[in-house]
Amino acid sequence: MPHFYTEPTITVLARPQFAEPAHLPVQWMGEGTDGERLAEFAGRLCYMSQKNPASRTTRDYLENIKKQGHGSVLEHANYSLLLEGVSRSLTHELVRHRAGFAYSQLSQRYVDESDAAFVVPPAIIGDEALRAAWQAQVEGAQATYVALVDRLMERYQWVDDKVHRRKMAREAARGVLPNSTETKIVVTGNARAWRTMLELRSSEAAEFEIRRMAVAVLRAMQAEAPAFFSDFEIYVAADRVEAARIGYHKV
Ligand SMILES: Cc1cc2nc3c(=O)[nH]c(=O)nc-3n(C[C@H](O)[C@H](O)[C@H](O)COP(=O)(O)OP(=O)(O)OC[C@H]3O[C@@H](n4cnc5c(N)ncnc54)[C@H](O)[C@@H]3O)c2cc1C
Repeated sequence: MPHFYTEPTITVLARPQFAEPAHLPVQWMGEGTDGERLAEFAGRLCYMSQKNPASRTTRDYLENIKKQGHGSVLEHANYSLLLEGVSRSLTHELVRHRAGFAYSQLSQRYVDESDAAFVVPPAIIGDEALRAAWQAQVEGAQATYVALVDRLMERYQWVDDKVHRRKMAREAARGVLPNSTETKIVVTGNARAWRTMLELRSSEAAEFEIRRMAVAVLRAMQAEAPAFFSDFEIYVAADRVEAARIGYHKV
């Protein structure tokens, strides 16, 4: 039986490492992560205000940046996340976010999906009858995939390059795999891009699975770099599912 995911797994793969130049020291105040310091350094360079005349903590400084809408300063800080336990339909929506993002996703042409996992659509979780109907379709699709790959490998026996032959078989057979097939994706984005995506996808208008992912990513990023994401508020919406709203829209 395949593995069934009921929530995503989010791993922070990379974060900024700030190396302050000795000839332009900043009068830092308060706590700050490397990503936050990098953004503050970039912002202060614009006005050569390294002496911190307003005596602002890093987090106050970045709060003001967000309030003023100087979002380009946030573009210096990039974070890479590994998302697992998410469906192909989720990533199809996610990769629409272009500006400031880079993606690398598991290839269904190269990777054997005979043992692929699946993501249970959140609206189905907790209802046994719905779950059974969904699961029967998913398992049937996977069995058809396995049979198609076998037959296509036979059909194209004359292709000498076995790697190429497998690719030909898998890229055709994947057509029967459902949107719920689990995938893995590495997503790199700058803090401004993450904010824009999270605003759209954690909202009540977003589809349940991507909304759940966005709320989970938001929690991870609030722990990672609070100054960039502290104006988001997570709440339980009228549909009894978590959503989030942003304080400073489209910085
Ligand atoms: C609730 C919801 C429902 C949706 N439903 C659908 C749907 O039914 N069908 C569908 O196709 N899509 C749908 N989408 C996807 C949506 O249309 C966008 O593709 C997606 O939200 C990414 O937004 P974006 O283009 O602003 O993001 P990004 O590509 O990250 O762009 C961010 C910002 O950069 C600027 N920008 C980026 N590229 C350009 C450009 N080429 N020219 C000028 N400015 C640019 C814009 O200001 C843009 O807002 C939906 C999205 C949401 C949140």
